[in-house]
Amino acid sequence: MTGKLWKFGLLATSAVLLSGAIARADTIVLRGARVLTMDDASPEAEAIALVDGRIAAVGSVKDVEPFVQGATVYDLPAGALVLPGFQDSHNHLIWSAAQAEDISLSDVEDEAGLRAAIEPVMATLPEGAWLRGGGWSVAVYKQPSAADLDRITGDRPAWFEDVDGHSGWANSAALKAAGIDADTKDPEGGRIDRDSQGNPTGLLRENAMALVADMLPDYPDSQVDAGLEKAQAEAIGYGVTAIIDPSVKEWMLKGYERAEAAAKLKLRVQAAVNVDAEEGVAGVQRTLDLKTLYASLHLKVTSIKLFVDGVIETGTAALLESYVGSNSSGELLFTPEQINELATVADKAGLQLHSHAIGDRAVRTALDAYEAAQKANGKRDSRHQITHLELVDQADIERFKPLGVIANIQALWAYPDTYIVDLTEPKIGQERSEWLYPFGALKRAGATLAGSSDWSVSSMNPLEAIQTGVTRQDIADPDGAVLTPQHKLDVMDMLRAYTVNGSYAAFDEADSGTLSAGKRADVIVLDKDVTRIAPTEIASAKVLLTLIDGQSAHEGEGLPKAGAGTP
Ligand SMILES: [Zn+2]
Repeated sequence: MTGKLWKFGLLATSAVLLSGAIARADTIVLRGARVLTMDDASPEAEAIALVDGRIAAVGSVKDVEPFVQGATVYDLPAGALVLPGFQDSHNHLIWSAAQAEDISLSDVEDEAGLRAAIEPVMATLPEGAWLRGGGWSVAVYKQPSAADLDRITGDRPAWFEDVDGHSGWANSAALKAAGIDADTKDPEGGRIDRDSQGNPTGLLRENAMALVADMLPDYPDSQVDAGLEKAQAEAIGYGVTAIIDPSVKEWMLKGYERAEAAAKLKLRVQAAVNVDAEEGVAGVQRTLDLKTLYASLHLKVTSIKLFVDGVIETGTAALLESYVGSNSSGELLFTPEQINELATVADKAGLQLHSHAIGDRAVRTALDAYEAAQKANGKRDSRHQITHLELVDQADIERFKPLGVIANIQALWAYPDTYIVDLTEPKIGQERSEWLYPFGALKRAGATLAGSSDWSVSSMNPLEAIQTGVTRQDIADPDGAVLTPQHKLDVMDMLRAYTVNGSYAAFDEADSGTLSAGKRADVIVLDKDVTRIAPTEIASAKVLLTLIDGQSAHEGEGLPKAGAGTP
């Protein structure tokens, strides 16, 4: 890996010289399709040549001709589109990947079903490891009991949350590990279900769930590794070549590190470390220590993640004015003093900030904190981010650009689904609903928009987000209602959000984000030119090829066979 970097030093300065040299076997030429470089200096090209993991030439077919001899040459379909690799600037990849390997009890209705779901997974996990998962429903499995699980699991602890996340089902070993018995009192806001003798049955409701959930150990390495491999393949299949993982714990960093050591981590991962109000500025040093520890080619700790508020649906997002029909305006998870101090200390230490802010008061509080940091430390190239941005007050839209704050958006959420129509708009009323996901206004105010999925909250296919950012309609219902059409973006805005702006958000613009000579050869090919089809068709485009460091990492159906280049 480092060898490539060294060679690149040579390449970048001698690209012209090299173009006269004989191409090597590790040269790839893509031609025949439109190349969108996302580089304003020369936005379009006909062909691109990649040498040794770097972009050696972008230009006309003639410009790349000197690289063809001996190269792997893809003569692409004329309607295809070559782009820089997508960057997903908020993706909980490894956490969601590990969770995805959990045991699924959805549709399980009896003990035989339980056995069929649990036993195969049990066989793959280390002796004594916790069995965990979820998805069961009391509507389907009528009487869950610890004993039902015990007959399958023996004395290994097991814990399964129900499909709604309001109840958990423990076996006897899990109850024992959590110290729950007939003498345990129900915690406030929770209930331990009991039999006629007062013994716990295994079912824990609401706040009682934490008695077991807080005991869960980190996932076993084998589960993390298996999950990561699959999730990464999915991301790469969607053309993603780099991500920001916005909330890592040490087990996740170790998981990425193991993958990198095994040369299996193809994505570039930048990570943010969650720091809450209780930890406060102590979290800055902890993050700096992790930043020192994790600073390799594919894995870097760069940021602090701040949860500033909750979500509108449950009334926990912090609003400037009360929820409709309520005295509550939600709550901030930091006081302004706490977040200002944390932002200032972190900014001074050279860390990036990545704030979860959903309600308009949370967004304002995050902007205020970034402004406080700038006042205290002077204006620097900090590129702090605010993510989600569901409701932004009009007065705050203009603040992003002068503060240099990146709007990290999940465009796939910006359509009138049931969350918006039934759970959000009634809670904030018509007037404020005009400012839901105000991406268009942010763009017009000059904010830099970075695109992201928040996987596994929603699909990590960037093309779905790109389409929705453009249409603000349900992908499944192209004639359906449009959410606040004044906030539509155009397809180039969305492509920028997933390429050049994502790279900028990650301080990686010297190496990625555009197809420019000298940058890493992270290149994708779509089967359709998404800038020239109906916006409602964008999500149906497929990724024909994903190259990372000039290596093929995904080849989709319809990719023409590569030929050995002869001029
Ligand atoms: Zn998230």
